[in-house]
Parts: sequence; structure tokens; C-alpha cells
Amino acid sequence: MADQYTMQDPTTQYPKPNEGFQQHQDGPGLEQSMSPKPDAGEATYRGSGRLEGRRAVVTGADSGIGRATAIAFAREGADVVLSYLPEEEPDAREVVELIEQAGRKAVSLPGDVTDEAYCRQLIDTAVAELGGIDILANIAGKQQYVEDIAQLSTEQFDQTYKTNVYAMFWLCQAAIAHMPPGSTIINTASLEAYQPAPILLDYASTKWAINGFSKSLAQQVASKGIRVNVVAPGPIWTPLQVAGGQPTQALAQFGAAQSPLGRPGQPAEMAPAYVFLASPESSYVSGETITATGGVPTP
Ligand code: NAD
Ligand code: MG
Repeated sequence: MADQYTMQDPTTQYPKPNEGFQQHQDGPGLEQSMSPKPDAGEATYRGSGRLEGRRAVVTGADSGIGRATAIAFAREGADVVLSYLPEEEPDAREVVELIEQAGRKAVSLPGDVTDEAYCRQLIDTAVAELGGIDILANIAGKQQYVEDIAQLSTEQFDQTYKTNVYAMFWLCQAAIAHMPPGSTIINTASLEAYQPAPILLDYASTKWAINGFSKSLAQQVASKGIRVNVVAPGPIWTPLQVAGGQPTQALAQFGAAQSPLGRPGQPAEMAPAYVFLASPESSYVSGETITATGGVPTP
């Protein structure tokens, strides 16, 4: 079975988009109901002890990039607290099972990250159930396309900022109070931070904010021995995109027109960046953004 260490042609490693990619689910969407099903590393990610004994909180851990990251963290030896919305329980169950199969502890705490009290509870749960926290991966995110600023509601603008920016702030604040030296925080920006699409006004601007927040915080907590970094994915095949992240017709071209590799990325291709930034291998890397865009140039 091929894994992330098997040499392959990246242009043909995963499917190119076609009409079959056009599908719609109401948000937040389920990975289980997608076709083709994304690769979150279930059968392709091989661990090698890079996070032995670590204690992680992963948001958006049920599906997409968060799912791939939670699976990878566990296979690398970490215990994981999983955050996701209650309606995503069917996807989350599968991740819990995979973490347990890897011989690690999985603690589910469904809830809404736009609620500050829930964010604090997530960190408290890691402290109580895992004996502490030394990795925080903020991967939950909201993306709903709106063609015209006239149609962008204050409610949506607020929800996008609460989910993508405020939750990151609350979770970082609560986690840092408990983190020992050597701990790592990884936030999730996007290619949209550098090439904002006209239909993603609220989303793209949160992703720019995440970069700025992370670079500021990295300097602030460096003396505590805590590192803060960012992963900025390009177009990745996940529920976010089929649940209103893109117009349905655009999915037939998703990732193809944009990226030189000619296809969307898969969640499994993002997880190694999170693992690298979480592990001591990246000990001299902080305030950095790793872009994984299928070859789209970024500043
Ligand atoms: P996804 O839908 O699988 O993951 C997003 C997750 O966010 C959901 O599973 C859900 O659990 C969580 N979430 C959303 N609102 C929440 C709320 N109010 N409370 C709790 N949890 C909530 O999609 P994904 O593409 O894997 O997204 C993960 C991250 O990657 C997001 O931050 C997204 O912005 C970012 N990203 C995605 C792409 C892409 O093309 N898919 C590109 C760049 C960045
Ligand atoms: Mg989900």
C-alpha cells in the first residue's frame, strides 16, 4: 500500500476534478456523503513516532484537513481531544475509532467554537483527560461564498470572524496558560490570504488576519518556549467546499484551473505539514506560514 513516503507523480497521485465533483450539502456537511471520498490518510498515512507522548487539541477534527491531522497526530504517538459540531458526529466517530486503533486516547467534545466558554472547556478537557496540552491545532473554519457585498449579511460576517478568528484567539489564550516549553500552536490560513477570491470577502480577510495574529503571537510567546506557526492550504477536496464554500458548478474545475499540479489537494497531503510544525523537528521555526498550494506561487 502506498503511503506518504512512496515516490509518486503528484500530478496523477489523486483524481483531477470533473462533473462528478459537482455536489451540494447543507453546512457543515459530512465527509461520509462526499463522492469521490477525500483521502484523509485512513489508508495512506504511516506514523513513525514523531509525536510520541504528546497531548493535542484539534478543532474541525471530524473531517477534511482536521480529520487528516488528528489521524496523523495519533499515528505519530499523540493523544487527541477532538472538537467538531454535534451534527458531525458520524464523521467524528470514524476518527475516534482510527485514533483508538492507533493505540492512542481520543476524547470527543462536540460544541460550537463561536462560544468562548466552549473553547475554554476544550482546553480544560485536555488538561483533565490527557494530563495537559502541548499541541493546539486550530483547523475549524467557516467558508460561505457570497457574490455581492450587498448580499453579505452582518450575521454571516460575524459568524465567519467568530469561527475563524475569535475561536483561534480564545483557544490560544486558554492553551498558553497550560503549555510547557516545547509546546506548539498551529493555525490554519489559506491561499485566500494571498489571492483573495471576489466571492470570499469575509473568509479571505479572516485568513489574512490569521497570518498576522500568528506572526505577532509567535514573537510574544517565544520566550516561554512556545512556537506558533501556520499552514496555508490551497484548494483541498473537503466538505467545506461542497457545503457552500464554492458555487456547485465551479467544483467541476476545483483545483484544476488554479494550481499548476492540475488537481485539488487531499487532506492527507496537508497533515504532514501540521506534523512537522507540531514536532520538535521544526524547533527553529516560529512565526512561519507553510503554504501547500499545489504550486500556486505565494509571497
Ligand atoms: P471541513 O469542513 O472538513 O472542516 C471544517 C471544520 O470546521 C468542520 O468539520 C467543523 O467541525 C468545523 N467548524 C466549522 N464551524 C464550527 C463551529 N462553529 N464550531 C465548531 N466547529 C466548527 O473543511 P476543511 O477544508 O478541512 O477546513 C479545515 C480548515 O482548512 C478551515 O480552517 C479552512 O478554512 C481551511 N482551508 C481549507 C481549504 C480547502 O480548500 N478545503 C483551503 C485553505 C484553507
Ligand atoms: Mg466536518
